[in-house]
Amino acid sequence: MGYVLETKDLTKKYGSKIAVNKVNMHIPEGRIYGLIGRNGAGKTTVMRMISGLSRPTDGDYSLFGQTGAQRGRLLRQVGVLIESPGIYPKFSAQENLRIKCIALGVDARTEIPRLLEAVGLEGVDSKKGAGSFSLGMRQRLGIALAMVGAPRLLILDEPINGLDPQGIVEMREILVRLREEQGISIMISSHILEELDKVADLYGVIHEGNLLDEFSAEQLHLRSGKYVKIRTDNPSAAMEVLAKMNIPAQRMEERGCIRVSGNLDQTAAISRELVNAGIGLEEIFLRSLSLEDYYLRMTGGERDV
Ligand code: ATP
Repeated sequence: MGYVLETKDLTKKYGSKIAVNKVNMHIPEGRIYGLIGRNGAGKTTVMRMISGLSRPTDGDYSLFGQTGAQRGRLLRQVGVLIESPGIYPKFSAQENLRIKCIALGVDARTEIPRLLEAVGLEGVDSKKGAGSFSLGMRQRLGIALAMVGAPRLLILDEPINGLDPQGIVEMREILVRLREEQGISIMISSHILEELDKVADLYGVIHEGNLLDEFSAEQLHLRSGKYVKIRTDNPSAAMEVLAKMNIPAQRMEERGCIRVSGNLDQTAAISRELVNAGIGLEEIFLRSLSLEDYYLRMTGGERDV
């Protein structure tokens, strides 16, 4: 599988300040890539460079395998939503899309219904000015605008920021649908790590301009040390039941709690055996390190992202 985007020592300096430092980033085709970082980490600067809005001070990048003049032509296949979407507030969603379609020479009649449906705005009033939309609707219209011209790569800077829980769920569904149904690759930045955890296939962690690590969702789960936590009213008896089942387990410091690190697929069997042995099962659940915990461990930071 090829990369839709690959950067090589990508660097941006503002005077003596290094905003992005020798970043080597890889986005495979048809994947959602979550770029994680605190405010000022360099996320927007990376996104501006790879969407052609600002020039790298050093280093290079390829789009769909191309660099140089070839890459310049391919920039048309990159849809961008950086900071707030450029929406004309007095115009409706349809009119905003029509303006962009005309600018890019795209057939508005077929594109507008397709785009509105893709972002869940198909029922929107064609007379209502976009200025009166909720933040979630504006962000969705921003994504539709970025998708005019059927891009192969979407770059979305903090599209979840400020959305209410319902808006976050809707945004997640839209992004997953774009990947599934249209095969679009998506780069999405956020500092809301819990939300990226549910949408991204792989991650890049940026901190003070440096890309600290890239890893897949599967690697995150492997590295995060998943385990089953069991809380019972009789942990000693529960340990005996687990030993009989040949399931390695340890008592935890937390009162009544046991940790099982392997056999994660046996949660149902464990519950059944414990209950059959007359042990009161207060809770049993799969625990893993969240993306946020992982990020904090890597950057040695405070719990304020
Ligand atoms: P945020 O979520 O706050 O936008 P970010 O991760 O997107 O954070 P950037 O906006 O990329 O961070 O900024 C990275 C660093 O570069 C910051 O220290 C910022 O102050 C600096 N910076 C960004 N743009 C400029 C500019 N035009 N001139 C000078 N410094 C800049």
